Amino acid sequence: MNAATLPSRGLAPGSVIGIAGGGQLGRMLAMAAARLGFHTIIYDPAQACPAAQTANSQIVATFDDEAARAEFAANCDVITYEFENIPLAFVEQISQETPVYPPPAALAVSQDRLAEKEFFGKLGITTAPFFEVNDPDQLRQACERLGGPGILKTRRMGYDGKGQVRLKPGDEAAMQVADELAAKTPCTLEGFVDFDHEISVIAARGIDGRFGAFDPARNRHEEGILRQSQVPCGASEELCKAAADIARQVTESLGYVGVIGIEFFVTPGGGLIANEFAPRVHNSGHWTEAACAVSQFEQHIRAICGLPLSATGRHSDCVMTNLIGFDVEALPLLLAEPDTLVHLYGKSDIRDGRKMGHVTRLLPKS
Ligand code: AMP
Repeated sequence: MNAATLPSRGLAPGSVIGIAGGGQLGRMLAMAAARLGFHTIIYDPAQACPAAQTANSQIVATFDDEAARAEFAANCDVITYEFENIPLAFVEQISQETPVYPPPAALAVSQDRLAEKEFFGKLGITTAPFFEVNDPDQLRQACERLGGPGILKTRRMGYDGKGQVRLKPGDEAAMQVADELAAKTPCTLEGFVDFDHEISVIAARGIDGRFGAFDPARNRHEEGILRQSQVPCGASEELCKAAADIARQVTESLGYVGVIGIEFFVTPGGGLIANEFAPRVHNSGHWTEAACAVSQFEQHIRAICGLPLSATGRHSDCVMTNLIGFDVEALPLLLAEPDTLVHLYGKSDIRDGRKMGHVTRLLPKS
């Protein structure tokens, strides 16, 4: 819980927003904040990180630097974060002095896959079957109880499919890799969901409890990394509403403020299975900057500053494609396309698997 709170009418232009983390999400948040007249300070150990290039200033420090943390808290009117692997203690300590949104309690749940699955379960939200795995013996028992294919995932610090081993009964080579992972770090074993496709919903909750969800996107991943998000997602109105209702339920139960991203599997029979949530703006919501009047980034800034949320309607259909690694070299061709918004992240080194930018192609609304 935040010890500090915002003025009841929200922050005035000229107020200072702190963003912990300096990646592309922080960069796009800083750009949205600037448009509403706010100043931004980025906190990140890497000088001239993508977010610092579009912010007013940066504190270059590690997340265990107490003096830097105190300076950050003292100089900001509100603080948010752009990645969920940020140390919880850093955020909790700041929240004693300066309001932090989303609330640290949401961060705590999302940082631990086991806590997250249990949290969904308590709210009656369906997930894949899951088991706690703390060592190779527990892994064997969990595999037996599961009785089918599964995925071993580290409980903490996983992203973009990292820290995961896919297991099939009889696949001894994968089992050996999984044994090593389970011996090293606390994990969960999840049942493998035979899904038809994946969708996500991006939603926001304001300080006053108002809620709004953007239309769900249909997502395609390649090698664990999001490749493409398409809106509309092709699901029935009922399924889209069910996804938004889950986002409402999750945010209300956490006393949440800000934008949240929730990822789901859709089964061949049209069932919705929650995979995970991110307490931040989300890659599968980048399309909103091109197809909505107000993007997920501005929506987040509005929410954390205590300002009214925007309506979440969409003026166009669209497909957002991530520019990963050397994809970005197609820039001249992309810029020549009509109805296409290109967004680059200011990263100078191109590396395989690195998100360099994204492109959103607009289509007439169906
Ligand atoms: P995650 O890190 O949990 O988001 O997983 C990355 C990707 O791996 C997901 O977007 C899915 O494509 C796939 N995946 C994760 N968990 C499962 C599961 N239980 N069953 C099937 N595929 C999964």
